[in-house]
Amino acid sequence: MAKKSFWFGLPMQMMYGLVLGVIVGTMVSTEFATTWLQPLGQLFIRLIRMVVVPLVIATLIAGAAGLGDASKIGSIAVKTILIFAITTAVAVTIGLIVANFMDPGLGLSISVEGLKAKSATPPPLSKVLMEIVPINPIDAFGKGNMLQVIFFSIFFGFCISVMGEPAKMLTDFFQKVGDVMIRMTNYVMLYAPIGVFGLISYTVTKHGLAVLLPLGKLILCAFIATVIFVVITYLPLVKLIGMSISKFLKGVFEPWLIAFTTCSSAAALAINLESTRQLGSSKAIASFVIPLGNTINMNGTSIYMGVTAVFAAQVFGIDLTMTQQFEIVLMGVLAAVGTAGVPGAGLIMTTLVFTEVGIPLEAVALIAGVDRILDMIRTSVNVLGDNLTALVVSKLEGTLGTEKMDSDSQLAS
Ligand code: ASP
Repeated sequence: MAKKSFWFGLPMQMMYGLVLGVIVGTMVSTEFATTWLQPLGQLFIRLIRMVVVPLVIATLIAGAAGLGDASKIGSIAVKTILIFAITTAVAVTIGLIVANFMDPGLGLSISVEGLKAKSATPPPLSKVLMEIVPINPIDAFGKGNMLQVIFFSIFFGFCISVMGEPAKMLTDFFQKVGDVMIRMTNYVMLYAPIGVFGLISYTVTKHGLAVLLPLGKLILCAFIATVIFVVITYLPLVKLIGMSISKFLKGVFEPWLIAFTTCSSAAALAINLESTRQLGSSKAIASFVIPLGNTINMNGTSIYMGVTAVFAAQVFGIDLTMTQQFEIVLMGVLAAVGTAGVPGAGLIMTTLVFTEVGIPLEAVALIAGVDRILDMIRTSVNVLGDNLTALVVSKLEGTLGTEKMDSDSQLAS
């Protein structure tokens, strides 16, 4: 598609939708917003999520098949998982440290009476791991069970790669399916400015200042922890791979905006894939890292786990010991890995962390009031983390910036 001028390009159109959404959101009633504006946003989320399962299956199979021989796949997978694991653990820890300094839950005069949340018992780790293996892959695809989809797709791609030439047509086939899904996203994105408008106006109407003020310190704390995390983790990594920070920030603007407005990493998946390719990730690595990270690498959600755990403990007057804080880091990492890339998923997963350290689950209902705002912050970081990991792994493999993008895998801008 032809490039439009900066002011009329898709990113700016989405910005206009966002600004207009904020203005309209302050002017209309909740009823109006629920009836007329929310559906505009929901339609966008449905359209974009429609693409996710086929896109993940096709890109991961083609990605794993295209990584090369078994040792190469192993080396790329190990690097990817290591970066995911380290950044995730650092994220929870920064969340905890900042919250311990800022005390977001102290002096909060909010009654927790009447707030009820369902209790949850964390399933045993062995069960969680076992269930990554699908008994019936078709069922996993149908239900959109992403961890199972990922497991099967990588395994399938690996087998294609091991079979070599006789199975090459399958790699080409899945590569083309991925390209078609990206093209589909391309068309869906034309609706993005209206979708963003619907999502933001509804959010502003529903979570006006009255809801925000009492929990403002929690939001501020999550925001500060996030900025600190980005500054001390992501920016040095960007420098290390030899990229300028402004180039990186400009390159990730579109996926960031989609993540911020939809609160869904899954919705930003296709755009993130394209963005990291534009920034220089090789196709095979991007096709492997981005869909995988979309489900298991949630740095923003990890920060949120640390911050909300300290917040909730303070609201209920619980003093967290060092051991408990360590447990929060471990459980926070697992909870973030298990969080689906859809709006509000992280809130549900906090129950695992809270249960682990004995925080009453009424806290979940308390946080729910402002969770949409917190979700905007955390989803943005979730998406940036995947993008950057693909770049770092490409750099480590010596392929950063060495491939030209073909037009089939490009989105309109
Ligand atoms: N909304 C987040 C995402 O899509 C997940 C979460 O709720 O933490 O990445």
